[in-house]
Amino acid sequence: MSLPIRPDLVGRTPYGAPQLDVAVRLNTNENSHPLPEALLDDITSAARSAAGTLNRYPDREANALRADLAAYLGHGLRPDQVWAANGSNEVLQQLLQAFGGPDRTALGFVPSYSMHANICAATGTRFVDGARTGDFVLTAEHAAAQVVSVQPDVAFLCSPNNPTGTALGLDVVTAVYAAATGVVIVDEAYAEFARPGSASALTLLPGRPRLVVTRTMSKAFGMAGLRLGYLAADAAVLDAIRLVRLPYHLSTLTQVAARAALAHAPRLLATVAEVMGQRDRIVRELPAYGLRPIPSDANFVLFGGMPDAGALWQALLDRGVLVRDVGLPGWLRVTAGTEAETSAFLAALDHVLTLLPGGGLPS
Ligand SMILES: *Cc1c(COP(=O)(O)O)cnc(C)c1O
Repeated sequence: MSLPIRPDLVGRTPYGAPQLDVAVRLNTNENSHPLPEALLDDITSAARSAAGTLNRYPDREANALRADLAAYLGHGLRPDQVWAANGSNEVLQQLLQAFGGPDRTALGFVPSYSMHANICAATGTRFVDGARTGDFVLTAEHAAAQVVSVQPDVAFLCSPNNPTGTALGLDVVTAVYAAATGVVIVDEAYAEFARPGSASALTLLPGRPRLVVTRTMSKAFGMAGLRLGYLAADAAVLDAIRLVRLPYHLSTLTQVAARAALAHAPRLLATVAEVMGQRDRIVRELPAYGLRPIPSDANFVLFGGMPDAGALWQALLDRGVLVRDVGLPGWLRVTAGTEAETSAFLAALDHVLTLLPGGGLPS
């Protein structure tokens, strides 16, 4: 007997990046650097005092946290323009609940973050792939033309883009916004890692009431386990989200821990430069193995050029290094972790590709 599941969910597979207990985990773009002791102390004492209030519901509006997030983002943003939820995935889900849904269409440009399409599926929103041109490039002209032809209720841009790593020029965002009548979401989960010269879509918010920029504390802040994502947009977008969010969606403990982490922002973000250094090192060194890295503005590198990506993924895992098979034939993605992790990744590559006979891979 099969369950009476929604027909549009039948046959779908759940999100499932492997969570394996191996020495070097470079597959989900976490920040590998240990959190500072002072932050652990502050989270502990904030949780201790908040625990006494757990008989009450949390602040439904997370006002103090949203004020802190607005201050962190800058760009003159006010707390009523910043919203927070349990990871930017929940933020995206709330956006689709409000602006997508049955009989509505979302447009994305694949390859991009697979959760955009997954959350569309979960909310009954039709997802259309606008595709990219050669080498994963997305130009303003191509993107705007797709928007004109699809007329989406929601358009997704991702900058820097996961899994390719490259940031978009703001010309792409402005062209998509101008061509669209629906909401335009720019997923900036990796914004803090962008190379100099790349600008955030936060600068475009004034005068664009349908533009939404999403961010997360999961990557640069090193707080993936906290589950805290947020967005910046016109205050009216937040009013739309309030219609669909679950009451008290953000727990008291999450709110106080996130505030403690934001108070340590400069210290936490000090690891960003180091991660960028390891990212650039990976991009620099991969060609020596005959591999082709894509230039990255994020904390990971997509690389191709191997005869068999699946076999290389397995061979690296056999040597204790977990990278990501993002489902792009011929490509793998590796997170830039600590210097030691990068060294371990490169040593494993060296072993597999140059030391073992026949490249160590089945032909
Ligand atoms: C990792 C990632 C996120 C983060 O999701 P959270 O729910 O905030 O952990 C969002 N968007 C992209 C493109 C990502 O790669």
